[in-house]
Parts: sequence; structure tokens; C-alpha cells
Amino acid sequence: MSQRIETLAVHAGQPPEPSTGAISTPVFLTSTYVQQGPGEHRGYEYARTQNPTREALEANLAALEGARFGVCFASGCAATVTVLHLLRAGDHVVAGDDLYGGTFRIFERVMRPLGLTTTYVDPTRPEAFAAAMRPETRLVWVETPTNPLLKICDLAAVAELCRQRGILLAVDNTFMTPVLQRPLELGATLVVHSTTKYINGHADVIGGAVLTSDEGLAERLRFLQNAMGAVPSPMDCFLILRGVKTLPLRIERQVDNAVRIARWLAEQVGGGLIERVIYPGLPSHPQHELASRQMRGPGAMISFVLQDGRQGALERARTVLRAVRLASCAESLGGVETLIEHPALMTHASLPRDQRERLGIGDGLIRLSVGIEHVDDILADLEQALARAA
Ligand SMILES: *Cc1c(COP(=O)(O)O)cnc(C)c1O
Repeated sequence: MSQRIETLAVHAGQPPEPSTGAISTPVFLTSTYVQQGPGEHRGYEYARTQNPTREALEANLAALEGARFGVCFASGCAATVTVLHLLRAGDHVVAGDDLYGGTFRIFERVMRPLGLTTTYVDPTRPEAFAAAMRPETRLVWVETPTNPLLKICDLAAVAELCRQRGILLAVDNTFMTPVLQRPLELGATLVVHSTTKYINGHADVIGGAVLTSDEGLAERLRFLQNAMGAVPSPMDCFLILRGVKTLPLRIERQVDNAVRIARWLAEQVGGGLIERVIYPGLPSHPQHELASRQMRGPGAMISFVLQDGRQGALERARTVLRAVRLASCAESLGGVETLIEHPALMTHASLPRDQRERLGIGDGLIRLSVGIEHVDDILADLEQALARAA
């Protein structure tokens, strides 16, 4: 019987170290490996190309996503750029229109000048992906749930469209992790992660990964990893390996907390302060049914919108973000600490204003990344901070 994700998180890719039996994978801090004679080595020549700590992490993450191959990078953005180098000038990409800001910046300001064009579509409408596909479309890129509006993309439906046309489907699974969503099982070709977020989970590393079961793509990604050189350090790989062991436990607690907090926030709607709560686990989410089918849990990201008050939604949001004491006002997400942020002023400030408004990232929008603290403490903090803005 194949092992469950809780077991894989602790053990996959990490047999005891052969020379000493060390149960924890050592940090192989070395740049080169001594060869017995010219060209005679044990599979390790130079550490950009091979590093045992990195290999342990790659094998572990591949196992969690149910992939045959894993390739790790220095950041989520490095993983994204490397995937896009599977394509060439003249190729076309169809992507969701509510992407991580850094991903949008890569598409528009790094890849477009090199000849790769991207069309953005509403990720909630598979038919919009179909309509945007052209003969030169080689890749579809989606995040689901999206950031920060938590729209859900029907992965099986989009995967089927891609399969019929021989187009690659890459899914950024950072928000869900393999604990809550397995895109490869739904037909995706590639899964991309910013391991900076939930996978490491302790807000102390920047990292990225790409997982696939396609041997040809894996070979090409490994070539690009070495040729382009955006590799993670062995120390960072060690820290991510340590973090990932508790990923299923952390996610379980974070989702439980998020469900409680989302319900509490939803109870405040209509009271003059909160206009709307966006969380896939609430029946009020427009795609609640799809979310329940596609995801093993609703995740631990919650967005909510403040109403205009006497001071206006923007000032109200500023008040809340200055008043929190337990939650930290910070970018990023997925760590053990609860974070709160204002997308329009922080994570999504680089988007042009008209695009932000078209997407619905307004002045009153606040995003929460729920941590593992006691839920009553998080609730008490939100309650006192929101009271200041009432
Ligand atoms: C953070 C993030 C990225 C980029 O990852 P870095 O590790 O910061 O380079 C990509 N996608 C999503 C969904 C993210 O949250």
C-alpha cells in the first residue's frame, strides 16, 4: 500500500545517511567533489549540478505531489522563470488574470520582451481558456485559489482542454500545498511552488520547486536548473526539509483556525464594518461547490472587504492593520505566524491601478494568512483591531 502524505512528509527522500546513519539529512556544504581520477566520480562533480541535500528535498516534494521528478530552485520566481524557458520566442501562454504579482511581472517585463506573449483570462471560466488558445499556445498557467481574491479554477476541466490540444498545464500550488490539492492527479503537467510559503512554513527561507511526472520535461528542467543556475543553497534545502516534516500537521491546524475565523468574520457582515468575506470554505463563496470537490480543505487564506465608513475604506483598513498586535502586518503567507496585509498598498501595489480595480482589489480589501496560534487569541486580536475601525 502506498504511504500517506503524513508519512511521506517525514520520510520520503530521506533514508539514513549511508556513511554514519545520521537520521537527518546532512547539509552538504561543498562546492565541488574530489574525483578518483579525471572523470571518475560517484555521480557528484560540482554543486550547482548535484547536491545531496537538494536531492533529498527534490525527492521529498516529488513524493508529496505524487510526481516522478522534482527540481528545486532558489525562489518561487526562479522556478517560474525556469518553467517559462521550456518555451521559445513566438510561443503563447494563457494565464489566469488574478496571478501572484511577481508572476505577472515575469510574464510582462521579463518574458514578453523576449518574445513570449501571454493572454490573461478569468480563471473561473474554463471556456475563457479555450477561447484564448491559439495554434502557437504552448502553456496554460493557473493559480487556484487565486491571490488575493480566492477564485477557483476547475483544474480537471482546464486540463482536459490542454490535453486535447497538446498544451502544457502548469499549476502554481503554493496556496494549497499537496496536502489540500494534487494538480497532477487532475491532469496538470507541471506543479510549481514557492516553498517560501506553506511548504517551509517558518518564514525563514526563500525557495521554489517544480514537480512533474513527464520525463522529457524533467530532463529539460534539470538541464535549465544547471544551465541557468538559480539553485537553492544546501542550508535552505535543509531548512525546507525540516519544515516540510510538519506540513500536514500545520495545514490541519491552520485550516481549522481559518474556518473558525472566516465564520466569525461572516457573522459580522451587515454590522456596518465588513461588507464581504471571501473564503472557499463558506457557502457564500460563489464556487464553494467546486472548491469542496477539488480541494481536500478550504485552505488558510481569507480575504475580506471593509465597507466605506465615515473615514473611507482605505483609512479603515489602515486603522485595522496598525491596530493588530498578535497578527503581523507583513507580506508573504503560509508561515506559522498569522499575517495580515493590504493587497492594494502592499503585495499588489505593482499592478496598474485600473487592472487592480477591474480585478476587485479595492481599498477595503484585507488578506489574512492564518497561522497555528490558538484560534481564540487570533479572534480576540482581530476583534479589538476591527473595533478601532468601527
Ligand atoms: C510567493 C509566491 C510566488 C513567488 O515565490 P518567491 O519564493 O517569493 O519567489 C509565486 N506564487 C505564489 C502564489 C506566491 O505566493
